[in-house]
Amino acid sequence: MSLTRERAGESAEAVIVGGGVIGASIAFHLAEAGVEDVLLLERDAPASGSSGKPIGGIRAQFSDPLNIRLGQRSLAAWRAFPDRPGAEIGVESVGYLFLLAAEADAAAFRGAVDVQRELGVDSALLTPREAHRLCPYIEPRAIVAAAYSPDDGFALPGAAVHGYLTAARRLGARVRTHCAVTGLDRDGDRITGVRTEAGTVRTGTVICAAGAWSAQIGVMAGVELPVTPLRRQIALTGPLRPAPPRIPFTLDFSSTLYFHNDTADGLVLGFSDPRQRPGFEREFSPEWLEPFRAAARLRAPALAGMADAGGGWAGLYEMTPDRNALIGQAAGISRFLYATGFSGHGFLQAPAVGEIVRDLFLGAPPPVDVRPLSADRFSGGAGDAAVRPEAHII
Ligand SMILES: Cc1cc2nc3c(=O)[nH]c(=O)nc-3n(C[C@H](O)[C@H](O)[C@H](O)COP(=O)(O)OP(=O)(O)OC[C@H]3O[C@@H](n4cnc5c(N)ncnc54)[C@H](O)[C@@H]3O)c2cc1C
Repeated sequence: MSLTRERAGESAEAVIVGGGVIGASIAFHLAEAGVEDVLLLERDAPASGSSGKPIGGIRAQFSDPLNIRLGQRSLAAWRAFPDRPGAEIGVESVGYLFLLAAEADAAAFRGAVDVQRELGVDSALLTPREAHRLCPYIEPRAIVAAAYSPDDGFALPGAAVHGYLTAARRLGARVRTHCAVTGLDRDGDRITGVRTEAGTVRTGTVICAAGAWSAQIGVMAGVELPVTPLRRQIALTGPLRPAPPRIPFTLDFSSTLYFHNDTADGLVLGFSDPRQRPGFEREFSPEWLEPFRAAARLRAPALAGMADAGGGWAGLYEMTPDRNALIGQAAGISRFLYATGFSGHGFLQAPAVGEIVRDLFLGAPPPVDVRPLSADRFSGGAGDAAVRPEAHII
């Protein structure tokens, strides 16, 4: 019997499209809640998309209270990951340090720190000297203040994806890799199946977690998901001698330069190149290191001479018009749920997003009200949703 015919009779209660950290978290949370017959389809290998980033920052320092809550809830889940779902993901609570060179930025971050503290985040505005003590690479005369939260840090996205998927499988979910979704079957305004390279799966629920490729899945359902791919790159210095001190995940807010330790004796260097045009290109190419070095000469001069001896990595930011996520259930079709468009902060929100999508699927009240993140907010049909810009992103 051919593979296609074998799978022609296959069905699932919910089909998740995408095996990155968002799809994996959703699969785990659904399976843990006892949803039978969860099927995750990934066209390549797990974590082969944006979630393949070697190290991912995790934090609760945001300007929007909704993002603060998602970050905070997720930080707790990342720390508890060895117990639930049960895997080592290398969490290091080194803190996040935002360098602020303009008084106006310092004032805005001071306001955000107040909001964060009201919500229980242990953040603070530091003097340049205090920031320098935490991160000796920075030039204190080049900034007016810095925002810091010690509970932020980083972890390993690849290990997190595998941890979620292993646990999801243990709880009964099916995970199929190298199996692309090619279309959806509908009966009027009802989804009835998912077409794949290996045949059709009957289902009444599709959950789109396809990252930068989500707009294409939306088109299959007739749902507009405004997600645009944008290449972002990091360079690895490789081992340094002497070994660098442990420093916070440090970002220069005005230039977008950022850097932090890797898992050994090197540093990870990053920068948002304004010349980068949208597109699906994912090859690493180091031309952005020049503007990185120009910014480093001002804020962290020792970094300006560092090379990408350890190689580099390129992935896609999955951008939305207001750089906030799209999370919800489409109104015009039954049932199409989506969790995408994280615009560069999807790893850090993944645990909370998994819980929320589980609850949307079950019709239960989610732990954080994500109605403002409905994709409708860009089309005017959003009810109480509206465009909500997030300031603490680069
Ligand atoms: C350089 C860089 C640095 C970043 N730094 C951070 C950070 O510090 N902290 C942070 O929180 N976030 C960071 N991000 C963002 C973060 O990586 C993403 O937001 C997150 O990985 C998104 O996860 P996802 O599961 O939505 O998407 P992905 O990991 O891209 O997964 C989507 C999956 O869907 C699959 N797929 C697509 N189409 C189909 C189809 N038709 N059928 C089946 N499968 C399909 C893809 O193959 C892919 O595996 C960074 C991103 C980059 C590029």
